[in-house]
Amino acid sequence: LYVDHPLGQGQSVPLSRDQAHYLFGVMRLGTGAPLLLFNGRDGEWRASVAEAGKRGGTLTCDAQTRGFEMPPDLWLLFAPIKKARTDFIVEKAAEMGARRIVPVQTAFTNAGRVQRDRLQAHAIEAAEQCGGTFVPEVAEMARLDQVLADLGDRHLMFCDEALAGAEDTSALPAKDAPWAILIGPEGGFSDKERARLHGLEAAHPVSLGPRILRADTAAVAAMTVWQQRLGD
Ligand code: SAM
Repeated sequence: LYVDHPLGQGQSVPLSRDQAHYLFGVMRLGTGAPLLLFNGRDGEWRASVAEAGKRGGTLTCDAQTRGFEMPPDLWLLFAPIKKARTDFIVEKAAEMGARRIVPVQTAFTNAGRVQRDRLQAHAIEAAEQCGGTFVPEVAEMARLDQVLADLGDRHLMFCDEALAGAEDTSALPAKDAPWAILIGPEGGFSDKERARLHGLEAAHPVSLGPRILRADTAAVAAMTVWQQRLGD
């Protein structure tokens, strides 16, 4: 269970109404029941139910079961698409160990706005389900220019559908360097954006094969390629 509260030996952790409903109403846990907690910072802790109420409750941390594990330094930059597919991208990026998830406004992005809080909640749920001790941060949506400026000298795996399977990912540089993956919108990148991206020193244009993948498929495929070639 994810809690937004410090964890430590003997620490008392208050529960929100929703968490109390889930633990005591849905899961039927009673006083003394054990469960595992994480907060994205302090590792994983075995805790037990100290107080169980309808509108709240308290847990007590008993012992640390795992230390905090920081995933490799990978950001996923993607142009948001339809709501359900955007949710899917965030969920899969969190499961696959992205450290930061950044919705990007490109020339052909037609999703007007993204609800950052909702996407952050999806990232938390995904981290809960895959037993991670880390929760990636979902950033506010930003324009492509701004996002590229924020990369500094981070390597960029630029997924370009126009390459159609030509180049070789075995030439990608060191796995312990900071990386970002960039996935375009349904309409692809504009010619201007593509020229800009190909001109960036830190950018490594990559093909994900001869077929054009939907953006949500491309995000998962790109993270898999990155992980296999470069990640942990
Ligand atoms: N509208 C574009 C077109 O028809 O050329 C397709 C865009 S595709 C649906 C969305 C994004 O997924 C692309 O911008 C790219 O980042 C990524 N993508 C999809 N297929 C790819 C491939 N074979 N290689 C590299 N990237 C790919």
